[in-house]
Amino acid sequence: MVNTVERDGQTWYECEECGLLLEDETEAKTHEENCSAEEPSYLQ
Ligand SMILES: [Zn+2]
Repeated sequence: MVNTVERDGQTWYECEECGLLLEDETEAKTHEENCSAEEPSYLQ
């Protein structure tokens, strides 16, 4: 699932697998589909 995050008055879409923030919801979903959660490179 992609999380919605409000930051600096803007809505971001966060990959639940690795925590990556993307501006575009479609991009975020596409990323997450291809994301490997086994080796997270970015933790929040
Ligand atoms: Zn990811």
